[in-house]
Amino acid sequence: MANVEDKKSVLDPWGTTVVEDYDHLYEEFGIQKFKPLLPEIPNPSMYMRRGVIFGHRDFDRVLETMKQGGDFAVMSGIKPTGEFHLGTLMTAREIIYFQQQGAKAFYAIADIEAYEDNKLPFEETEKIAVGNVADLLALGFDPKNGYIYRQYTEHRVRNLAVHFGAGVTLATMKAIYGERHIGLYLSALVQAGDILMPQLKYFDGPKPTVVPVGVDQDAHLRLTRDLANKFRRKFKFVAPSSTYHKILKGLDGSPKMSKRNPMSYFTLNESSKSIAKKISNAFTGGRATVEEQKRLGGVPEICPIYEIEMCHFVEDDDDVVEVYNCCKCGSLLCGEHKARTKKIILKFVEDHQRKREKLVDKAREILGIK
Ligand code: SF4
Repeated sequence: MANVEDKKSVLDPWGTTVVEDYDHLYEEFGIQKFKPLLPEIPNPSMYMRRGVIFGHRDFDRVLETMKQGGDFAVMSGIKPTGEFHLGTLMTAREIIYFQQQGAKAFYAIADIEAYEDNKLPFEETEKIAVGNVADLLALGFDPKNGYIYRQYTEHRVRNLAVHFGAGVTLATMKAIYGERHIGLYLSALVQAGDILMPQLKYFDGPKPTVVPVGVDQDAHLRLTRDLANKFRRKFKFVAPSSTYHKILKGLDGSPKMSKRNPMSYFTLNESSKSIAKKISNAFTGGRATVEEQKRLGGVPEICPIYEIEMCHFVEDDDDVVEVYNCCKCGSLLCGEHKARTKKIILKFVEDHQRKREKLVDKAREILGIK
């Protein structure tokens, strides 16, 4: 029998994140359950409705402001290390969702983190960032009510990081992040700057801010909330809130989609042929034979095909429930389901690529890159 120790999770923003059991994160890390807030949310997103967003820190504060039509912000960022994939798609859509609910939206191109963590030079990440911003715009981000910036060139973020450096000891950084090189600690302070920048006077001062991220990023929120308290007197910061989404399984059945494992994921700019092949070869929760599957039903809970559809590509909740039930009772077979999923995903990706192509110049203009 598994003991509590076996269920310990590792949440490392720069390494391996393992979540054996999401329920244990509430006890282990003090993350709050998202589900009880769901009935209060006027227009919950697909990720919220389906439990993909499972946890939060003080999201109630943002929710209250949102319901009263007050001033609030959404802030998140993505490392420019490559093309958008399903993980970054989720973060981008979460930012866009809150923007559509009235938030002033901030999107950080985390190029300092990409330098410190992935050793990617700034000239290279600048080029990658153009594509990522074109993706963000194609997904619906409205630049008129949003602010897109590179950490490396945003002096307000860097200035905040300098202040924060005086408010944190090496022992605290080690306790939160473990033993890391100084550059990673520095990039964590820069991210605290990202998270709190929306509250500077230049952006109309203190306000509730939600940071939607994968749960592997929780360490940054713990650090930033602590810094917000320490620097409250000087900046009047409101402690930032967060929402946490689950980590997606790899298409090949691995616990996590990973760039080191190309068969575990696809990007939004990959060829249709390559995506189709990855879906055809994907792991499923199906049985060894058709006869067994018809008799016993499949196991959607462990199936990446079900997860991808449910998380990203099927808007209608009834449709998701129907697929789940048909899988469970054995009336839906994996080959048939993969063919349907392929069709839905390829249509989305091809439409997205067409829109994105037209937005590359706009992305260059926003980033000030010729
Ligand atoms: S029928 Fe679909 S959801 Fe069920 S195990 Fe097969 S691929 Fe997964």
